[in-house]
Amino acid sequence: MTLAEILARELGAEHVLGPEKLSLRHPGWCAQSLDAGLLVRPADAAELSAILKATPGVPVVPQGGVTGLVEGTASSPGEIIVSFERMNRIEQIDPAQGVALVGAGVTLAQLDAALEPHGLMAGVDIGARDSCTIGGMVSTNAGGIRVLRYGMMRASVLGLEVVRADGTVLDLTSPLMKNNAGYDLKQVFIGSEGTLGLVTKVALRLFPRPRAIATALVGIDARALSAFMPRLRLALGEGLAALEGMWPDCYRRCAEFQGVTPLPLQAGPDGPGLFLIAEAFGPDDTAAQTALEQALVPMLEDGTIRDAVLAQSGAERARIWRIREGAGVIGGDGAPGYHYDVSLKLADLDPYVQRLQAKVADAFDGIAVLVFGHVGDGNLHLSLMPDGTLPPRDAVDAVVYGVLAGFESSAISAEHGVGLEKRAALQTYRPAGILAAMGTLKAAFDPEGRLNPGKVLPGNGPR
Ligand SMILES: Cc1cc2nc3c(=O)[nH]c(=O)nc-3n(C[C@H](O)[C@H](O)[C@H](O)COP(=O)(O)OP(=O)(O)OC[C@H]3O[C@@H](n4cnc5c(N)ncnc54)[C@H](O)[C@@H]3O)c2cc1C
Repeated sequence: MTLAEILARELGAEHVLGPEKLSLRHPGWCAQSLDAGLLVRPADAAELSAILKATPGVPVVPQGGVTGLVEGTASSPGEIIVSFERMNRIEQIDPAQGVALVGAGVTLAQLDAALEPHGLMAGVDIGARDSCTIGGMVSTNAGGIRVLRYGMMRASVLGLEVVRADGTVLDLTSPLMKNNAGYDLKQVFIGSEGTLGLVTKVALRLFPRPRAIATALVGIDARALSAFMPRLRLALGEGLAALEGMWPDCYRRCAEFQGVTPLPLQAGPDGPGLFLIAEAFGPDDTAAQTALEQALVPMLEDGTIRDAVLAQSGAERARIWRIREGAGVIGGDGAPGYHYDVSLKLADLDPYVQRLQAKVADAFDGIAVLVFGHVGDGNLHLSLMPDGTLPPRDAVDAVVYGVLAGFESSAISAEHGVGLEKRAALQTYRPAGILAAMGTLKAAFDPEGRLNPGKVLPGNGPR
């Protein structure tokens, strides 16, 4: 029997897709996602387990919404793509416990629509919400715009159902707030990018929806960021919901890309500028607006910030966010460029940007360094866009990560993960002892190396 026939026997032929049907699918945000030419759509953990048991040793590539940005869903001939699209049921929403139990293939937007009538929401929110799945978000430990308030995905996961490489199903879905009964195994799978186990179900902590949100666009001298942030946090306390940043070239380019007239703000004529979006939650519109205004005005008066505009309507808020969301897709419009997602201490963000821009200008001709990110949690996204030919990736990586390595406590991936794209950088910039411990974990959970081979760590197959 061929592999496709074995899979069809387990699932039914309609849930096994070959090259012809796959040619009609969009590969999502990873050009090689469908290269395996063989995709299965199990309905639940039991079916997934049966597939893994029926195909011992055959490599599998899990795929959620394929919005991941590090080639974590790339597949090759000989591998089986596991799609979670049929595990798209919201099994339970328990408002009393503040927990939802959802299939791994439920999208964030789908969950949000179901939670809205209960006045609840998930803590993590990302721009890819219409397509990204809860299983994918768990597997990448997604971050996004509300990490300051709710933490990354890990902080919201109360339980998981996971299928191991040999087909064993682990029910770790306990929705208990407290559970110290032995090792907290779910933590191993969160952020492991499908290399240690396949997530089929998630028990997710829920949060009350904010009753009101106030949004401000703030212009500061970027060197003042580490003075601004703690004062904003002190003034707003729990109400501080987001602090996003765009360096000036990025701000202008995104506004142009999105067809939005940029708001006329001063962002530091005497030094490197920075545009920030600050958001505060509050019990009602007036309270949220007042809290944000009272946080910003003293800093305007003493010159910590240069300028600020408080959105006065939903339309103004949408206009501000539209510019920022342009930054998230600026590389996806087909324009050549390389994209990075790095983590630094707050005080190091602008020094890194300045050093990198200088180094890039020295090393290459005509490359714009566009910088934005979740600055409140020290996360920069960089897009290096050439106006001519794109230099080799290795050469650009060496500059981006080489400058980064000069900053203590920096990371080559803040929230997107490693996938294939950042695997070489991980090997170069993570200490050998840490890489060895990762290898030990991988060998323990996936001794044959069949789970998402070659992602995060070098595989034992073609990758
Ligand atoms: C416009 C845009 C904005 C974005 N903004 C953010 C952001 O702000 N913050 C952020 O963190 N990310 C962001 N991302 C990246 C991406 O959306 C996240 O990484 C998301 O969590 C991926 O979810 P997915 O369902 O698309 O997973 P996929 O892309 O399908 O997969 C991602 C990884 O998880 C593995 N995987 C998927 N499902 C499972 C499963 N059920 N079990 C085991 N492994 C699995 C895959 O093999 C792959 O390694 C953005 C992407 C886009 C396109």
